Amino acid sequence: MKQAARPITTSVFELFKAGPGPSSSHTIGPMLAGLDFRNLLELLPGEDKGRGVSLTVRLLGSLSATGRGHGTDKAVLAGLMGYDPRSCPDGLPAGALELPPGERAISLDGAVLGLDENTVVFGELEHGYPFSNTLIFSLSDAEGKPVLERICYSVGGGFIQWDGWSAPERGSPPYPFESASGLSALVEESGLSLPQIVMANETALTGRGRPEIQAELDAVIELMRRCVNRGIRAEGMLPGVLRVYRKAARLAHRADCMDDPLNRFLGLLNAYAFAVAEENAAGGIIVTAPTCGSAGVMPAMLTIMEGYLGFGPQAVRDGLLAAAAVGFLAKHNAGIAGAEVGCQGEVGVASAMAAAMLAQARGYPPRIVENAAEIALEHHLGLTCDAVGGYVQIPCIERNAMGALKAYNACLMATAEDPDKHRVSLDMAIQAMGETGHDMDRKYKETAGGGLALCVSGC
Ligand code: SF4
Repeated sequence: MKQAARPITTSVFELFKAGPGPSSSHTIGPMLAGLDFRNLLELLPGEDKGRGVSLTVRLLGSLSATGRGHGTDKAVLAGLMGYDPRSCPDGLPAGALELPPGERAISLDGAVLGLDENTVVFGELEHGYPFSNTLIFSLSDAEGKPVLERICYSVGGGFIQWDGWSAPERGSPPYPFESASGLSALVEESGLSLPQIVMANETALTGRGRPEIQAELDAVIELMRRCVNRGIRAEGMLPGVLRVYRKAARLAHRADCMDDPLNRFLGLLNAYAFAVAEENAAGGIIVTAPTCGSAGVMPAMLTIMEGYLGFGPQAVRDGLLAAAAVGFLAKHNAGIAGAEVGCQGEVGVASAMAAAMLAQARGYPPRIVENAAEIALEHHLGLTCDAVGGYVQIPCIERNAMGALKAYNACLMATAEDPDKHRVSLDMAIQAMGETGHDMDRKYKETAGGGLALCVSGC
């Protein structure tokens, strides 16, 4: 069996997780970081608890540049108040500052730390920390001396790390892989399918049984369906200053009235992607796939697969597991945060995942599944993150629909060729994405400092 030096140990449900929009790195990650700091405060020895009188959080890098549009400050406050993004009620974190004063506080051995609009400070864009999205939590005493400090990083997809962080202890994957070529070799040697390998690894990593994992996969699928159904009915203007109106309902209505099956198919795929991307922009609960900004691509493909193409539950579950493998590889070997690699890591990776999901659900062999993902990713290479005004609206919402369409087309192309004659591997495309992202100017990486963010007037 081919050895993996740094095998992937991410769980499927760390990749696909419920949380509030509009951004996994700017909303979910910072909210988790706030919750994590609150938990640390509770572990402080009694004498330190008594000394802490002032709490501040400094946002650096992309979080500072676009944090207002993304609601990062409110997300951090909601986390500090004890809300978990994976289970928070609708309306949070956006409404964190409207909660009663009793909730906007942390009690520390009698002392009460108030949480308000001054708690979170927008700091420098340029800094020397290893990740762009950096948060510095500081609890100080009455003389301004530090009692507790934590430097935390929101590394994309709602994942956080901190100085001294190490990957959580978990079981070893029985089929360790860190590249698409390694995964293909495992499929060939083991005689298992790609979804079976991902399932076997998930079972070993998490210690959970197959029925439990299957039930959670079904819950993810159901949540994606609900996001589409909610978004497709909603009307009105999205939050923020851009005055962007929701379009999903109109797109769906128009598609329903079309006689031509091709136009109807494309119209529905667009409508489903818009529905979830608009829910995300409005701060609704979505499923990261792999991020919030790109959360519309996979549910759009899923809804088309179930409702239009007639796929059954097992085909959809298998597709989701194949998509997870693609997301793991991109996260492990390049990145999935707009702030690190631009939108190629968000909508580009989501499109590759959706292409793999469709090819897997159609029962194609792993080589074709890989090629479908590769084609979808290849044609997002170089895509910048230039969200206008720092809101996940322009170009993000339309971009989700384009990502879903490209995924469908990538699957068509991959299934129409001899897979062994395909010249670019998924590993090569992911490597190219990582190198392009590394070379990309900071202004194109979720800072609202370049591209459309500058050229769209009146914002
Ligand atoms: S442009 Fe892409 S990467 Fe940037 S916020 Fe929008 S969806 Fe995310």
